[in-house]
Amino acid sequence: EQLANQIAAGEVVERPASVVKELVENAVDAGSTTIDITIEEGGLSLIRVTDNGGGIEASDIQTAFQRHATSKISTSSDLFRIASLGFRGEALPSIAAVSRLTCVSADSNSGLARKLVIEGGHITADEPANAPQGTDMSVKDLFYNTPARLKYMKSIQTELGHISDYINRLALAHPGIAFTLKHNGSTLLRTMGTGDRLQVIAAIYGTSAAKAMLPVSASDSDYELTGYISKPDLTRANRNGITVVVNGRYIRSHTVNQSLLQAYHTLLPINRFPLVVLELGMHPGLLDVNVHPSKMEVRFSKEAELRALIERAVREALVSQRY
Ligand code: ADP
Ligand code: MG
Repeated sequence: EQLANQIAAGEVVERPASVVKELVENAVDAGSTTIDITIEEGGLSLIRVTDNGGGIEASDIQTAFQRHATSKISTSSDLFRIASLGFRGEALPSIAAVSRLTCVSADSNSGLARKLVIEGGHITADEPANAPQGTDMSVKDLFYNTPARLKYMKSIQTELGHISDYINRLALAHPGIAFTLKHNGSTLLRTMGTGDRLQVIAAIYGTSAAKAMLPVSASDSDYELTGYISKPDLTRANRNGITVVVNGRYIRSHTVNQSLLQAYHTLLPINRFPLVVLELGMHPGLLDVNVHPSKMEVRFSKEAELRALIERAVREALVSQRY
């Protein structure tokens, strides 16, 4: 069991950013409206995620750290859940196997809090606690007992870069959740959770960037597209400023990137790239899970139609601003 957890950890917990991703996604799934992320030393000494979501019932807290124990039921209409099937119920035991983890959680029904401490996969404390509703996960000394893995870690700055990039995109995907990200005591991101995506863009890219955004909007019988693209006077050296959200989840899509850049570069034949946040809504049946779930790749079943819609939306947004 312990060995299985360490093996699984190798797949699920590649680096500090993967721990952050798993913990923060659990906080989002728990219905939180506030999620605070505290990082020390690029995540190698501390990753702490505190949320105000539904919490874990005291009697379930040990179960949550057992392999394949998940409270989330997959339905055929929730393809994103099915997409992460491979890792279902594996994150917490995997993380606990390679760190010193403390979980304090108070569930919304009983209001009772419980604290569980796991070191290298072994439970060292399980006791009543005092805490507000929600969950507080502290992961200390990541990979302390897997020195081979620790050796592969890049610089603190590199690890932090991955964490920060992921949290930024998650905040863009969830403008209704108030996120804070702190590293070694300084605040790197704070969003308000008002639901206004322009506010999140301002928090990440600055207020002048937010002012330079044009609304994008188009729909047909299958797809609904909303979001923002930067005006031609605000460009970037690479395509990292493109964030795509599908049915509320941040994903990577070659198809979406390609069609929006096709339209953009037809109008603006420059070797620069726009800042973009695109949200696509569709029936989950039109989504196909592609390749490796952790890469967040998806495939769309009516691809040609979607491409045409994106190209039209980008063209309309930019042409409306032509001077
Ligand atoms: P999965 O997310 O695939 O279900 P995890 O190992 O990530 O598996 O989590 C196991 C279970 O622990 C979840 O199904 C959920 O019931 C519970 N859990 C984990 N984190 C939280 C949280 N922040 N708030 C409430 N419940 C949580
Ligand atoms: Mg999870």
